[in-house]
Amino acid sequence: MRLYLVERDDDGNARCNGCGWRVSNIYLMADSREQAEKLHKELEGGLCSNCICELLMQEGYEIIKPKNKWKEITDIDELKEGMIVKDETGRQGVIIGIMKDRLEVIWKGASYSETVHISYLESYLVEKEEEGGR
Ligand SMILES: [Zn+2]
Repeated sequence: MRLYLVERDDDGNARCNGCGWRVSNIYLMADSREQAEKLHKELEGGLCSNCICELLMQEGYEIIKPKNKWKEITDIDELKEGMIVKDETGRQGVIIGIMKDRLEVIWKGASYSETVHISYLESYLVEKEEEGGR
């Protein structure tokens, strides 16, 4: 489950279903953004920041920081064939060849490979290898 902001009213007219106060931000816990919005619509529900924090404490929820899977690469020696790279536009591809100053990459959804000069490398990100188990 995640916490979602389901209503934002800059005038502070959103009503908290817990304490009944009128606030700016209403939150809901759900498995997805779609579910959160559906629940908000159906139950006209959600809680203010104060009430959501109280609920999290009462129920003993733990907060888990999502692992950052992407690592910025600045050194060509760190790159290997088969690594997944992402450019600054968010496009993802697989390295299929490494030349002196160029990479051969097949971008997701593309049927041909593209040669990319490493002068762009600083803006490339590589998927981190798993760090032993969890
Ligand atoms: Zn409240």
